Amino acid sequence: MKFKLVIFTAICISLICITNSCTNNTKNNNSEEVEVKIVTKPVSGFSQDSAFAFIQKQLSFGYRVSGTKEHEKCANWLYQKLNSYSDTAIFQKGSAVTYDKKRIPVYNIIGTFNPKATKRILFASHWDSRPWGDQDDIDADKPIDAANDGASGVAVLLEIARNLSISKPDIGIDIIFFDAEDYGKSEFENSFCLGSQYWGKNLHSPNYTANFGVLLDMVGGKDAQFMWEENSNTWGNFALVHIWAVAQELGHANYFVGNTIGQIIDDHKYVYEATKIPMIDIIQYNPQTGFAPYWHTHDDNIGSIDKNTLFAVGNTLQNVIFFPPPSLSY
Ligand SMILES: [Zn+2]
Repeated sequence: MKFKLVIFTAICISLICITNSCTNNTKNNNSEEVEVKIVTKPVSGFSQDSAFAFIQKQLSFGYRVSGTKEHEKCANWLYQKLNSYSDTAIFQKGSAVTYDKKRIPVYNIIGTFNPKATKRILFASHWDSRPWGDQDDIDADKPIDAANDGASGVAVLLEIARNLSISKPDIGIDIIFFDAEDYGKSEFENSFCLGSQYWGKNLHSPNYTANFGVLLDMVGGKDAQFMWEENSNTWGNFALVHIWAVAQELGHANYFVGNTIGQIIDDHKYVYEATKIPMIDIIQYNPQTGFAPYWHTHDDNIGSIDKNTLFAVGNTLQNVIFFPPPSLSY
């Protein structure tokens, strides 16, 4: 049995959930109100099969652990792929010191669409895989496939990038694949999110900014539910309101539910601290049961992925790009 109940105080993580609360949000319950549609003409094109294939491709390289040849090969593929879809791409190479004082290479991969547009949305996900299945009962010291915890977010963003290469919005889009998010231990502060911390100190473009940001982390699990994370709500309430409303208009209310969860430390925190870009986190976490049962175990493999979840997230974000919050409309 690989299941480990994640309770409020045990966390660990690439993500530290400090508090949890579950409050009903009433914003969804007024079905009799006359709604003003945000998405007047839904944008289609996001393919869950293509996104799924992008996960398989990442896993085909092996474990994406910094300093290994598998990591290097996957990074090269990600750069080549993102570069093929975007107007410009950057392969940011740096290094970081781990919790156990090892210096590791850090590769952040950045793709830009409409580089001159002043209104921009930043999307990000981490692409590395956790070097250990430390929530597993078996082989806890061995690396994991990380199909959901890493590859799923990247796959959704690559599929969005593929769509943007065919049909471009008016606004600017930046996509960043952060490295070494999961190379941490919960007992060491700031030991997770090494790629985003490096980027925060070495922005790929001087004075880089965006109107808001969206981080994807664990967005492929079956029956995943995404709730309003506390830091996201503090920094980017308007983005949460908008994205969840778009999701619900598109029929994805089962995934984008209206509850709140406590603070999660994830890459969005380091982006916000470095740039003050209001960045929100779309992450599967349940106040009662914690992260999914396969989280940080060897069961986080391709079998943990449900194409319907990939579609709900990708379809939502593709429409957010073309129907952004009013402050980003031209
Ligand atoms: Zn993780």
